[in-house]
Amino acid sequence: MNIKAVRRLKRMAVAIAVSGAAFLWTPTPAGTVHAENCTHENYEWVTLVKPTCSKMGKDVRVCQDCEEILETEYIEKKEHKGKWERTKEPTCASVGIKSYICKNCNAVIETEVIPTKNHKFVRIDTIGATCKAPKVIKKECSTCGLKTTEQSGNKLDHKYGNWSIKSIKVKGKNVKVTQIRTCSRCNESSQLVTGTSAALSGKHGRNNYFYKLTKRSGRITVLCAQCHQSVTGKISGGVIKFTRPKRDNSKHTAKAWKSLNKMHK
Ligand SMILES: [Zn+2]
Ligand SMILES: [Zn+2]
Ligand SMILES: [Zn+2]
Ligand SMILES: [Zn+2]
Ligand SMILES: [Zn+2]
Repeated sequence: MNIKAVRRLKRMAVAIAVSGAAFLWTPTPAGTVHAENCTHENYEWVTLVKPTCSKMGKDVRVCQDCEEILETEYIEKKEHKGKWERTKEPTCASVGIKSYICKNCNAVIETEVIPTKNHKFVRIDTIGATCKAPKVIKKECSTCGLKTTEQSGNKLDHKYGNWSIKSIKVKGKNVKVTQIRTCSRCNESSQLVTGTSAALSGKHGRNNYFYKLTKRSGRITVLCAQCHQSVTGKISGGVIKFTRPKRDNSKHTAKAWKSLNKMHK
């Protein structure tokens, strides 16, 4: 097959590739044997289109004498050849994508998900523990702004201060004492304790009672200055437990003693 003929075939192949038109072969009239009389014994295989990964190739058997195409053979596409590329970077808010892209035709052959990244939390606020709630740590992701609130450790115990008298009531020969103390941290939680003494003997005027209180422990002594008897109460198990009434010659005029009469007037 002469060079001219091959060139012509290749031009035509380009034309076919561009237009997609059917391959119509018209032999040139001059200088060749007429196709009708040609026995096509002198032929040659010529590659018209090289296969790529996106297009089949084409080989033709061409008669060297009359240039007629005697046979056409299609060649399988080549395999895509590419590499993995990160086409979308993952963030802490969304997954990324990895794609296998053909370097020849740019087709995406395969994709894979890249897992999300971890949030990058930074501490933005800390609220100390109270009697009601443990320590609270507020964090924010420096990348996506996601906010979290975590509790850390335990609530604080109430911190109770000193006991004070809420009421002392004398009923007949019995003394009923109620004490209270409040949490100095939250000022909300309070504890109340109550106890009633056994009956004091003898005669008692209401106005002759005096008391002495140890604020820290809540220990209280109530003295009747008329019959010279006293009872002492200790806080135990949430109540005030009183001793039996006993003889007591304490001078109620001493500074430690307070008048019950004054307290309630
Ligand atoms: Zn021929
Ligand atoms: Zn390809
Ligand atoms: Zn984030
Ligand atoms: Zn408290
Ligand atoms: Zn008395």
